[in-house]
Amino acid sequence: MAGAVPVIVGAPRLCTVADLAPELEHPDATCLLLVSSRLVQGKEPDLASAVAAARSQGLPVILDGAAQDFRMRQLLATGADLVLVSAQKYLGAPTAGLVMGRAGLVAAVRAQEKGIGRGMKATKEAIASVLAALAEQEELNIAAWAAAQARIVDEFAARAGTLPGLAAWAEPDPTGLPFPRAHLRVDPDRAGMGAPELAMALRAGSPSIWMMDHCAELGELVFELVALRTDEVEAILGRLTALMA
Ligand SMILES: *Cc1c(COP(=O)(O)O)cnc(C)c1O
Repeated sequence: MAGAVPVIVGAPRLCTVADLAPELEHPDATCLLLVSSRLVQGKEPDLASAVAAARSQGLPVILDGAAQDFRMRQLLATGADLVLVSAQKYLGAPTAGLVMGRAGLVAAVRAQEKGIGRGMKATKEAIASVLAALAEQEELNIAAWAAAQARIVDEFAARAGTLPGLAAWAEPDPTGLPFPRAHLRVDPDRAGMGAPELAMALRAGSPSIWMMDHCAELGELVFELVALRTDEVEAILGRLTALMA
């Protein structure tokens, strides 16, 4: 919509700062880097080095850190010119977005209130709620919260791992978010179904249980428990137990 032409750098499973370098020689380019635990496969370039490489060519850098609200300060500290974060992910606010960084560029984005951004305008209610969510996150004792999340995921993995045909473990978030996820590996011979079938069965039930199944073909399902209450975690374990019986 802005008239820019995207040039994709690197290969799906590997992108290095050296891959970026030739594309950074275009004086009218902007460097857009994505921070994602799931969309990215293989090895990403080190963010701070990638930002530095672009900045050394005088290019502005935009970090798409949609799910990275816990790491806003860290992402800004890379020297990126703009950092984008979704309000409706871990921040738990209504749908909206935060644009942070250099004042001039933030003002340029803001000018789109009257331009192409108008159709995506956040409501006044959403804006008030995002501010409340930010205030709440400021108050949060992140270390204590992270420890509690780790306990929930460890216990989930320990219990799921006792079920026939399932191995389970906790894995830290690859982007550095302060919580782990539970990974389940399904042994089709012992479980009587593969990971894709287990994912389908969990989704088909009531309540419908959804997980990250981007690695299902490799036998693995990933459960993110961050937003769940204790009874909801129990419901998942109950369904897994029934399906694996
Ligand atoms: C979720 C996500 C988006 C989309 O964000 P919305 O706020 O839903 O538009 C874009 N980029 C990344 C890296 C994401 O994780």
